[in-house]
Amino acid sequence: MIVKDWCSYCGCCAGVCARNCIEVKETALVISDDCNDCGICVKACPLAALELEE
Ligand code: SF4
Ligand code: SF4
Repeated sequence: MIVKDWCSYCGCCAGVCARNCIEVKETALVISDDCNDCGICVKACPLAALELEE
């Protein structure tokens, strides 16, 4: 997962992850290894700040 500079750390993406993979820190997102690249969080971000790595 690539987190763009304009992420506001609002936590919306963490709220939609069914596997609970995203931890929102003050100035960072921590994505756990449980992530299955489903892309739901990418679509949920209001700022388009997430991108799945190829
Ligand atoms: S929803 Fe978008 S802006 Fe909010 S914490 Fe997640 S990546 Fe950042
Ligand atoms: S891609 Fe899917 S599993 Fe991975 S962090 Fe986003 S919502 Fe969770």
